[in-house]
Amino acid sequence: MEFETVIGLEVHVQLATKSKLFSAAATTFGAEPNTQACAIDLGMPGVLPVTNKEAIRMAVKLGLGIDGEINYESVFARKNYFYPDLPKGYQISQYELPIVKGGHLDIYLEDGTKKTIGITRAHLEEDAGKSLHEDFHGMTGIDLNRASTPLVEVVSEPDMRSAEEAVAYLKTLHTLVRHLEISDANMQEGSFRCDANVSVRPRGETKLGTRTEIKNINSFRFVEKAINYEVERQINVLNNGDKITQETRLYDSEKNETRSMRSKEEAEDYRYFPDPDLLPIIIDDLFIDAIRDTLPELPQQKFQRFQQEYKLPAYEANTLANNIELAKYFEDTVRHAKNSAKSIANWMLGELTAHINRDNLETIACPVKPQHLAMLIKRIEDNTISGKIAKTVFEALWNKEGEVDEIIANKGLKQITDNTEIEKIIDTIIKNNPKQVEQFKTGNEKIIGYFIGQVMQTTQGKANPKQVNDILQTKLKD
Ligand code: ADP
Ligand code: MG
Repeated sequence: MEFETVIGLEVHVQLATKSKLFSAAATTFGAEPNTQACAIDLGMPGVLPVTNKEAIRMAVKLGLGIDGEINYESVFARKNYFYPDLPKGYQISQYELPIVKGGHLDIYLEDGTKKTIGITRAHLEEDAGKSLHEDFHGMTGIDLNRASTPLVEVVSEPDMRSAEEAVAYLKTLHTLVRHLEISDANMQEGSFRCDANVSVRPRGETKLGTRTEIKNINSFRFVEKAINYEVERQINVLNNGDKITQETRLYDSEKNETRSMRSKEEAEDYRYFPDPDLLPIIIDDLFIDAIRDTLPELPQQKFQRFQQEYKLPAYEANTLANNIELAKYFEDTVRHAKNSAKSIANWMLGELTAHINRDNLETIACPVKPQHLAMLIKRIEDNTISGKIAKTVFEALWNKEGEVDEIIANKGLKQITDNTEIEKIIDTIIKNNPKQVEQFKTGNEKIIGYFIGQVMQTTQGKANPKQVNDILQTKLKD
Protein backbone atom coordinates (compact mmCIF):
# COMPACT_ATOMS: atom_id res chain seq x y z
CA MET A 1 0.00 0.00 0.00
CA GLU A 2 1.19 3.51 -0.73
CA PHE A 3 1.19 5.99 2.14
CA GLU A 4 1.01 9.74 2.35
CA THR A 5 2.92 11.62 5.06
CA VAL A 6 1.17 14.37 7.04
CA ILE A 7 3.11 16.80 9.20
CA GLY A 8 2.12 19.69 11.45
CA LEU A 9 4.74 21.67 13.34
CA GLU A 10 4.72 23.47 16.65
CA VAL A 11 7.60 25.92 16.86
CA HIS A 12 8.72 27.71 20.00
CA VAL A 13 10.35 31.01 19.21
CA GLN A 14 12.14 32.70 22.08
CA LEU A 15 11.45 36.42 22.01
CA ALA A 16 14.44 38.74 22.23
CA THR A 17 13.16 40.84 25.12
CA LYS A 18 15.63 41.99 27.75
CA SER A 19 13.48 40.80 30.65
CA LYS A 20 11.14 37.92 31.36
CA LEU A 21 7.53 37.66 30.30
CA PHE A 22 6.15 38.52 33.75
CA SER A 23 9.12 39.84 35.73
CA ALA A 24 12.13 42.13 35.50
CA ALA A 25 14.68 39.28 35.65
CA ALA A 26 17.17 39.22 32.77
CA THR A 27 16.96 36.78 29.86
CA THR A 28 20.63 36.76 28.80
CA PHE A 29 21.83 33.34 27.69
CA GLY A 30 24.63 31.50 29.48
CA ALA A 31 24.51 33.06 32.96
CA GLU A 32 25.46 31.03 36.06
CA PRO A 33 22.59 28.70 36.97
CA ASN A 34 19.80 30.27 39.04
CA THR A 35 21.19 33.81 38.93
CA GLN A 36 18.45 35.11 36.65
CA ALA A 37 15.27 33.89 38.23
CA CYS A 38 13.33 36.02 40.67
CA ALA A 39 10.52 35.31 43.10
CA ILE A 40 7.92 35.84 40.36
CA ASP A 41 9.54 33.34 38.02
CA LEU A 42 9.63 30.84 40.88
CA GLY A 43 6.01 31.46 41.77
CA MET A 44 6.68 32.31 45.40
CA PRO A 45 3.58 32.99 47.49
CA GLY A 46 2.31 36.53 47.33
CA VAL A 47 3.99 37.63 44.13
CA LEU A 48 2.12 39.11 41.18
CA PRO A 49 3.19 38.78 37.55
CA VAL A 50 3.10 41.83 35.26
CA THR A 51 3.03 41.30 31.50
CA ASN A 52 6.02 42.53 29.48
CA LYS A 53 4.65 44.94 26.87
CA GLU A 54 7.59 44.42 24.56
CA ALA A 55 6.74 40.70 24.33
CA ILE A 56 3.21 41.63 23.28
CA ARG A 57 4.61 43.95 20.62
CA MET A 58 6.85 41.21 19.29
CA ALA A 59 4.01 38.70 19.16
CA VAL A 60 1.90 41.20 17.22
CA LYS A 61 4.82 41.77 14.86
CA LEU A 62 4.96 38.06 14.20
CA GLY A 63 1.19 38.00 13.66
CA LEU A 64 1.54 40.69 11.00
CA GLY A 65 4.47 38.84 9.44
CA ILE A 66 2.40 35.69 8.93
CA ASP A 67 -0.64 37.62 7.77
CA GLY A 68 -2.58 36.43 10.79
CA GLU A 69 -5.48 37.98 12.61
CA ILE A 70 -4.46 39.86 15.76
CA ASN A 71 -6.98 39.29 18.54
CA TYR A 72 -8.01 42.53 20.23
CA GLU A 73 -8.46 40.55 23.40
CA SER A 74 -6.37 37.57 24.41
CA VAL A 75 -6.10 35.78 27.69
CA PHE A 76 -3.33 34.09 29.66
CA ALA A 77 -4.24 30.67 30.99
CA ARG A 78 -2.59 28.31 33.42
CA LYS A 79 -1.49 25.00 32.01
CA ASN A 80 -1.12 22.76 35.04
CA TYR A 81 1.43 20.00 35.23
CA PHE A 82 4.03 18.74 37.63
CA TYR A 83 7.68 18.77 36.74
CA PRO A 84 10.84 19.63 38.73
CA ASP A 85 11.80 22.51 36.42
CA LEU A 86 8.37 24.12 36.84
CA PRO A 87 8.29 25.34 40.45
CA LYS A 88 4.92 27.09 40.10
CA GLY A 89 3.22 23.82 39.16
CA TYR A 90 1.76 25.49 36.09
CA GLN A 91 2.98 27.22 32.98
CA ILE A 92 1.39 30.49 31.93
CA SER A 93 0.30 30.13 28.33
CA GLN A 94 -2.63 31.11 26.16
CA TYR A 95 -5.33 28.62 25.38
CA GLU A 96 -8.79 29.60 24.19
CA LEU A 97 -7.85 33.14 23.20
CA PRO A 98 -4.36 33.32 21.68
CA ILE A 99 -2.91 36.67 20.59
CA VAL A 100 -2.73 35.59 16.93
CA LYS A 101 -5.32 33.53 15.10
CA GLY A 102 -4.76 32.10 11.63
CA GLY A 103 -2.13 33.11 9.11
CA HIS A 104 0.08 31.42 6.57
CA LEU A 105 3.60 31.08 5.24
CA ASP A 106 4.55 30.50 1.62
CA ILE A 107 7.35 28.02 1.20
CA TYR A 108 9.45 27.31 -1.88
CA LEU A 109 10.82 23.89 -2.57
CA GLU A 110 14.09 22.97 -4.20
CA ASP A 111 12.37 22.52 -7.59
CA GLY A 112 10.86 26.02 -7.42
CA THR A 113 7.28 25.00 -6.57
CA LYS A 114 5.47 27.22 -4.13
CA LYS A 115 3.20 25.93 -1.39
CA THR A 116 1.16 27.79 1.19
CA ILE A 117 1.19 26.35 4.70
CA GLY A 118 -1.63 27.38 7.00
CA ILE A 119 -0.91 28.59 10.52
CA THR A 120 -3.56 27.79 13.09
CA ARG A 121 -2.48 30.15 15.82
CA ALA A 122 0.44 31.79 17.56
CA HIS A 123 0.29 32.32 21.29
CA LEU A 124 2.44 33.81 24.02
CA GLU A 125 3.72 31.63 26.80
CA GLU A 126 6.50 31.41 29.34
CA ASP A 127 9.31 28.91 29.11
CA ALA A 128 10.04 26.40 31.88
CA GLY A 129 13.39 25.93 33.63
CA LYS A 130 15.92 23.34 32.62
CA SER A 131 16.81 19.99 34.15
CA LEU A 132 20.51 19.20 33.95
CA HIS A 133 20.91 15.45 33.88
CA GLU A 134 24.55 15.19 32.92
CA ASP A 135 26.40 17.36 35.39
CA PHE A 136 25.50 15.66 38.65
CA HIS A 137 26.04 12.05 39.67
CA GLY A 138 22.82 10.35 40.65
CA MET A 139 21.05 13.67 40.85
CA THR A 140 19.35 16.14 38.57
CA GLY A 141 20.33 19.79 38.63
CA ILE A 142 17.65 22.42 38.14
CA ASP A 143 18.50 25.73 36.46
CA LEU A 144 15.63 28.18 36.57
CA ASN A 145 17.26 30.96 34.56
CA ARG A 146 15.06 30.11 31.61
CA ALA A 147 11.87 30.03 33.69
CA SER A 148 9.40 32.60 32.40
CA THR A 149 11.46 33.59 29.35
CA PRO A 150 8.93 34.78 26.74
CA LEU A 151 8.09 32.44 23.89
CA VAL A 152 5.73 32.56 21.00
CA GLU A 153 4.46 29.15 19.99
CA VAL A 154 3.54 28.99 16.31
CA VAL A 155 1.22 26.10 15.50
CA SER A 156 0.86 25.06 11.88
CA GLU A 157 -2.00 23.26 10.19
CA PRO A 158 -1.20 19.65 9.23
CA ASP A 159 -0.38 20.91 5.73
CA MET A 160 3.08 19.51 5.07
CA ARG A 161 3.53 16.30 3.12
CA SER A 162 7.23 15.54 3.41
CA ALA A 163 10.28 16.16 5.57
CA GLU A 164 11.52 18.48 2.82
CA GLU A 165 8.40 20.66 3.13
CA ALA A 166 8.72 20.68 6.92
CA VAL A 167 12.31 21.89 6.69
CA ALA A 168 11.39 24.53 4.10
CA TYR A 169 8.61 25.77 6.41
CA LEU A 170 10.95 25.91 9.39
CA LYS A 171 13.61 27.76 7.45
CA THR A 172 11.04 30.26 6.19
CA LEU A 173 9.74 30.88 9.70
CA HIS A 174 13.30 31.06 11.03
CA THR A 175 14.20 33.75 8.50
CA LEU A 176 10.99 35.64 9.15
CA VAL A 177 11.49 35.97 12.91
CA ARG A 178 15.05 37.11 12.35
CA HIS A 179 13.95 39.67 9.77
CA LEU A 180 11.33 40.92 12.20
CA GLU A 181 14.06 41.15 14.85
CA ILE A 182 11.87 39.48 17.43
CA SER A 183 14.25 36.56 18.07
CA ASP A 184 17.84 35.60 17.42
CA ALA A 185 16.38 32.16 16.66
CA ASN A 186 19.65 30.53 17.71
CA MET A 187 18.89 26.83 17.51
CA GLN A 188 21.89 25.63 19.54
CA GLU A 189 20.84 27.87 22.41
CA GLY A 190 17.25 26.69 22.17
CA SER A 191 15.79 29.97 20.93
CA PHE A 192 14.03 28.20 18.05
CA ARG A 193 12.73 24.73 18.89
CA CYS A 194 10.44 22.49 16.98
CA ASP A 195 8.01 19.69 17.84
CA ALA A 196 7.01 17.67 14.80
CA ASN A 197 3.61 15.97 14.63
CA VAL A 198 3.79 13.14 12.16
CA SER A 199 1.21 10.72 10.79
CA VAL A 200 0.77 8.63 7.67
CA ARG A 201 -2.38 7.54 5.84
CA PRO A 202 -3.12 5.43 2.79
CA ARG A 203 -2.82 7.62 -0.30
CA GLY A 204 -6.27 8.95 -1.25
CA GLU A 205 -7.60 8.74 2.33
CA THR A 206 -8.94 12.10 3.58
CA LYS A 207 -9.14 11.32 7.29
CA LEU A 208 -5.94 12.03 9.22
CA GLY A 209 -4.01 9.10 10.60
CA THR A 210 -3.01 8.76 14.25
CA ARG A 211 -0.05 11.01 14.92
CA THR A 212 2.96 10.95 17.12
CA GLU A 213 4.69 14.08 18.33
CA ILE A 214 8.48 14.28 18.26
CA LYS A 215 9.72 16.73 20.86
CA ASN A 216 12.33 19.42 20.80
CA ILE A 217 14.36 18.86 17.70
CA ASN A 218 17.11 21.44 17.56
CA SER A 219 18.46 21.52 14.01
CA PHE A 220 17.04 21.55 10.49
CA ARG A 221 18.98 18.42 9.64
CA PHE A 222 17.62 16.54 12.65
CA VAL A 223 14.07 17.60 11.82
CA GLU A 224 14.47 16.01 8.43
CA LYS A 225 16.05 12.86 9.79
CA ALA A 226 13.61 12.50 12.69
CA ILE A 227 10.59 12.83 10.39
CA ASN A 228 11.97 10.41 7.82
CA TYR A 229 12.74 7.87 10.51
CA GLU A 230 9.30 8.27 12.08
CA VAL A 231 7.46 7.96 8.76
CA GLU A 232 9.25 4.74 7.98
CA ARG A 233 8.58 3.40 11.47
CA GLN A 234 4.86 4.16 11.22
CA ILE A 235 4.57 2.58 7.78
CA ASN A 236 6.23 -0.57 9.13
CA VAL A 237 3.83 -0.70 12.07
CA LEU A 238 0.81 -0.36 9.77
CA ASN A 239 2.14 -2.86 7.24
CA ASN A 240 2.48 -5.34 10.12
CA GLY A 241 -1.23 -4.92 10.76
CA ASP A 242 -0.62 -3.02 14.01
CA LYS A 243 -1.94 0.37 15.09
CA ILE A 244 -0.03 3.60 15.74
CA THR A 245 -0.15 4.67 19.37
CA GLN A 246 -0.71 8.38 19.83
CA GLU A 247 2.29 9.36 21.93
CA THR A 248 5.14 11.76 22.48
CA ARG A 249 8.46 10.55 21.14
CA LEU A 250 12.02 11.68 21.54
CA TYR A 251 14.53 11.90 18.69
CA ASP A 252 17.96 10.47 19.47
CA SER A 253 20.33 12.09 16.99
CA GLU A 254 23.21 9.76 17.83
CA LYS A 255 21.25 6.61 17.04
CA ASN A 256 19.06 8.39 14.45
CA GLU A 257 15.84 6.95 15.86
CA THR A 258 12.75 8.12 17.72
CA ARG A 259 11.78 6.53 21.02
CA SER A 260 8.57 6.56 22.97
CA MET A 261 8.68 9.09 25.82
CA ARG A 262 5.18 9.12 27.22
CA SER A 263 1.63 8.58 26.11
CA LYS A 264 0.10 11.71 24.68
CA GLU A 265 -1.62 13.90 27.22
CA GLU A 266 -4.94 15.46 26.33
CA ALA A 267 -5.87 19.10 26.85
CA GLU A 268 -8.12 18.00 29.76
CA ASP A 269 -5.06 16.70 31.57
CA TYR A 270 -3.75 20.22 31.86
CA ARG A 271 -6.86 21.69 33.52
CA TYR A 272 -6.43 24.99 31.69
CA PHE A 273 -8.10 28.00 33.26
CA PRO A 274 -7.62 31.77 32.88
CA ASP A 275 -4.84 33.02 35.14
CA PRO A 276 -6.58 35.06 37.85
CA ASP A 277 -3.38 37.05 38.50
CA LEU A 278 -3.21 38.48 34.99
CA LEU A 279 -5.46 40.85 33.12
CA PRO A 280 -6.48 40.02 29.57
CA ILE A 281 -4.30 41.62 26.89
CA ILE A 282 -6.41 44.30 25.26
CA ILE A 283 -4.99 45.97 22.16
CA ASP A 284 -6.47 48.27 19.53
CA ASP A 285 -5.84 49.24 15.91
CA LEU A 286 -3.70 52.18 16.96
CA PHE A 287 -1.31 49.83 18.73
CA ILE A 288 -1.31 47.38 15.83
CA ASP A 289 -0.82 50.06 13.18
CA ALA A 290 2.10 51.59 15.07
CA ILE A 291 3.77 48.18 14.95
CA ARG A 292 2.88 47.70 11.30
CA ASP A 293 4.74 50.96 10.58
CA THR A 294 7.93 49.52 12.03
CA LEU A 295 7.88 46.34 9.93
CA PRO A 296 11.01 45.93 7.79
CA GLU A 297 10.86 44.57 4.26
CA LEU A 298 9.85 40.95 4.74
CA PRO A 299 11.49 38.01 2.96
CA GLN A 300 8.37 37.55 0.80
CA GLN A 301 8.49 41.17 -0.37
CA LYS A 302 12.22 41.00 -0.90
CA PHE A 303 11.69 37.88 -2.98
CA GLN A 304 9.19 39.68 -5.23
CA ARG A 305 11.42 42.73 -5.53
CA PHE A 306 14.53 40.69 -6.40
CA GLN A 307 12.61 39.10 -9.26
CA GLN A 308 11.25 42.39 -10.58
CA GLU A 309 14.10 44.78 -9.94
CA TYR A 310 17.01 42.47 -10.77
CA LYS A 311 15.25 39.97 -13.04
CA LEU A 312 16.47 37.05 -10.95
CA PRO A 313 14.84 33.65 -11.51
CA ALA A 314 12.58 32.48 -8.67
CA TYR A 315 15.03 30.04 -7.13
CA GLU A 316 17.92 32.50 -6.92
CA ALA A 317 15.66 35.33 -5.76
CA ASN A 318 14.17 33.14 -3.05
CA THR A 319 17.45 31.77 -1.75
CA LEU A 320 18.94 35.23 -1.46
CA ALA A 321 15.82 36.91 -0.07
CA ASN A 322 15.50 34.31 2.66
CA ASN A 323 18.92 34.89 4.12
CA ILE A 324 19.40 38.33 5.65
CA GLU A 325 23.17 38.32 5.30
CA LEU A 326 23.20 36.98 1.73
CA ALA A 327 20.49 39.44 0.68
CA LYS A 328 22.50 42.34 2.02
CA TYR A 329 25.71 41.07 0.44
CA PHE A 330 23.88 40.72 -2.87
CA GLU A 331 22.54 44.26 -2.88
CA ASP A 332 25.87 45.69 -1.73
CA THR A 333 27.54 43.94 -4.65
CA VAL A 334 24.90 45.12 -7.12
CA ARG A 335 25.61 48.68 -6.00
CA HIS A 336 29.18 48.20 -7.31
CA ALA A 337 28.14 46.45 -10.53
CA LYS A 338 24.71 47.68 -11.51
CA ASN A 339 24.02 45.55 -14.55
CA SER A 340 25.43 42.26 -13.38
CA ALA A 341 22.80 41.13 -10.88
CA LYS A 342 22.33 37.75 -12.51
CA SER A 343 26.06 36.93 -12.52
CA ILE A 344 26.38 38.18 -8.97
CA ALA A 345 23.58 35.85 -7.85
CA ASN A 346 25.23 32.94 -9.67
CA TRP A 347 28.61 33.58 -8.12
CA MET A 348 27.08 33.99 -4.71
CA LEU A 349 25.06 30.78 -4.85
CA GLY A 350 27.96 28.92 -6.42
CA GLU A 351 31.51 29.76 -5.45
CA LEU A 352 30.79 32.12 -2.55
CA THR A 353 28.34 29.83 -0.73
CA ALA A 354 30.57 26.81 -1.33
CA HIS A 355 33.53 28.60 0.26
CA ILE A 356 31.46 29.92 3.15
CA ASN A 357 30.19 26.43 3.87
CA ARG A 358 33.60 24.84 3.43
CA ASP A 359 35.19 27.18 5.97
CA ASN A 360 32.08 27.27 8.14
CA LEU A 361 32.00 31.07 8.13
CA GLU A 362 29.32 33.71 8.58
CA THR A 363 28.69 35.64 5.35
CA ILE A 364 29.70 38.82 7.10
CA ALA A 365 33.13 37.37 7.95
CA CYS A 366 33.85 36.17 4.44
CA PRO A 367 37.15 37.54 3.08
CA VAL A 368 35.77 38.27 -0.40
CA LYS A 369 33.89 41.55 0.04
CA PRO A 370 31.08 42.83 -2.22
CA GLN A 371 33.42 45.25 -3.99
CA HIS A 372 35.83 42.37 -4.75
CA LEU A 373 33.14 40.19 -6.25
CA ALA A 374 31.82 43.14 -8.27
CA MET A 375 35.29 43.83 -9.65
CA LEU A 376 35.87 40.17 -10.43
CA ILE A 377 32.66 40.01 -12.46
CA LYS A 378 33.58 43.25 -14.20
CA ARG A 379 36.87 41.69 -15.28
CA ILE A 380 35.04 38.72 -16.75
CA GLU A 381 32.63 40.98 -18.57
CA ASP A 382 35.34 43.22 -20.03
CA ASN A 383 37.18 40.10 -21.18
CA THR A 384 40.23 40.60 -19.00
CA ILE A 385 39.82 37.07 -17.64
CA SER A 386 37.70 34.09 -18.56
CA GLY A 387 35.00 32.72 -16.29
CA LYS A 388 37.17 29.74 -15.57
CA ILE A 389 40.25 31.74 -14.61
CA ALA A 390 37.97 33.89 -12.47
CA LYS A 391 37.65 30.92 -10.13
CA THR A 392 41.42 30.98 -9.62
CA VAL A 393 41.22 34.70 -8.89
CA PHE A 394 38.35 34.08 -6.49
CA GLU A 395 40.39 31.50 -4.61
CA ALA A 396 43.27 34.00 -4.34
CA LEU A 397 40.87 36.69 -3.13
CA TRP A 398 39.57 34.27 -0.54
CA ASN A 399 43.15 33.68 0.63
CA LYS A 400 43.60 37.46 0.89
CA GLU A 401 46.33 37.61 -1.73
CA GLY A 402 45.36 41.10 -2.83
CA GLU A 403 42.90 43.05 -4.95
CA VAL A 404 41.43 41.63 -8.16
CA ASP A 405 43.68 43.48 -10.64
CA GLU A 406 46.74 42.85 -8.51
CA ILE A 407 46.08 39.11 -8.47
CA ILE A 408 45.47 39.01 -12.22
CA ALA A 409 48.73 40.86 -12.87
CA ASN A 410 50.85 39.03 -10.30
CA LYS A 411 49.74 35.60 -11.39
CA GLY A 412 49.82 36.47 -15.10
CA LEU A 413 46.18 35.49 -15.52
CA LYS A 414 45.21 38.09 -18.09
CA GLN A 415 43.27 36.57 -20.89
CA ILE A 416 44.98 36.21 -24.29
CA THR A 417 42.74 38.13 -26.67
CA ASP A 418 45.32 38.91 -29.32
CA ASN A 419 44.06 37.15 -32.47
CA THR A 420 47.50 36.68 -34.03
CA GLU A 421 48.86 35.14 -30.87
CA ILE A 422 45.95 32.69 -30.62
CA GLU A 423 46.24 31.89 -34.34
CA LYS A 424 49.92 31.07 -33.95
CA ILE A 425 49.18 28.63 -31.15
CA ILE A 426 46.33 27.06 -33.10
CA ASP A 427 48.50 26.66 -36.23
CA THR A 428 51.08 24.69 -34.26
CA ILE A 429 48.42 22.48 -32.72
CA ILE A 430 46.80 21.81 -36.10
CA LYS A 431 50.17 20.93 -37.57
CA ASN A 432 50.94 18.48 -34.75
CA ASN A 433 47.58 16.69 -34.86
CA PRO A 434 46.90 15.66 -38.46
CA LYS A 435 44.83 12.62 -37.41
CA GLN A 436 42.35 14.73 -35.47
CA VAL A 437 42.18 17.27 -38.30
CA GLU A 438 41.27 14.46 -40.65
CA GLN A 439 38.52 13.29 -38.27
CA PHE A 440 37.08 16.79 -38.17
CA LYS A 441 37.08 17.05 -41.96
CA THR A 442 35.32 13.69 -42.29
CA GLY A 443 32.44 14.91 -40.17
CA ASN A 444 33.42 14.40 -36.52
CA GLU A 445 32.73 17.98 -35.46
CA LYS A 446 32.82 17.08 -31.81
CA ILE A 447 36.57 16.64 -32.05
CA ILE A 448 36.80 20.43 -31.85
CA GLY A 449 36.62 19.98 -28.08
CA TYR A 450 39.95 18.19 -28.27
CA PHE A 451 41.54 21.17 -30.03
CA ILE A 452 40.05 23.65 -27.57
CA GLY A 453 41.50 21.53 -24.77
CA GLN A 454 44.92 21.63 -26.40
CA VAL A 455 44.82 25.42 -26.76
CA MET A 456 43.74 25.83 -23.15
CA GLN A 457 46.48 23.51 -21.98
CA THR A 458 49.11 25.46 -23.92
CA THR A 459 47.84 28.81 -22.62
CA GLN A 460 47.05 27.56 -19.10
CA GLY A 461 43.42 28.39 -19.66
CA LYS A 462 44.10 31.99 -20.59
CA ALA A 463 43.00 32.08 -24.22
CA ASN A 464 39.63 33.71 -24.77
CA PRO A 465 37.31 30.70 -25.29
CA LYS A 466 35.09 32.39 -27.85
CA GLN A 467 37.98 33.53 -29.99
CA VAL A 468 39.59 30.12 -29.79
CA ASN A 469 36.39 28.51 -30.95
CA ASP A 470 35.88 30.97 -33.83
CA ILE A 471 39.44 30.69 -35.10
CA LEU A 472 39.41 26.89 -34.84
CA GLN A 473 36.16 26.70 -36.81
CA THR A 474 37.62 28.69 -39.72
CA LYS A 475 41.03 27.07 -39.73
CA LEU A 476 39.75 23.51 -39.51
CA LYS A 477 37.32 24.06 -42.32
CA ASP A 478 40.11 25.44 -44.57
P1 ADP B 1 -1.61 19.43 20.85
O1 ADP B 1 -1.60 20.85 21.28
O2 ADP B 1 -2.27 18.53 21.78
O3 ADP B 1 -0.27 18.93 20.46
P2 ADP B 1 -3.06 20.21 18.42
O4 ADP B 1 -4.36 19.72 17.94
O5 ADP B 1 -2.98 21.62 18.84
O6 ADP B 1 -2.56 19.27 19.56
O7 ADP B 1 -2.03 19.95 17.23
C1 ADP B 1 -0.72 20.23 17.34
C2 ADP B 1 -0.07 20.09 15.99
O8 ADP B 1 -0.27 18.78 15.46
C3 ADP B 1 -0.57 21.03 14.92
O9 ADP B 1 0.54 21.55 14.27
C4 ADP B 1 -1.37 20.16 14.00
O10 ADP B 1 -1.30 20.62 12.67
C5 ADP B 1 -0.67 18.83 14.12
N1 ADP B 1 -1.51 17.68 13.85
C6 ADP B 1 -2.73 17.41 14.38
N2 ADP B 1 -3.18 16.23 13.93
C7 ADP B 1 -2.23 15.70 13.12
C8 ADP B 1 -2.10 14.49 12.35
N3 ADP B 1 -3.03 13.55 12.35
N4 ADP B 1 -0.97 14.31 11.63
C9 ADP B 1 0.00 15.24 11.64
N5 ADP B 1 -0.06 16.39 12.32
C10 ADP B 1 -1.16 16.63 13.06
MG1 MG C 1 1.64 19.59 20.83
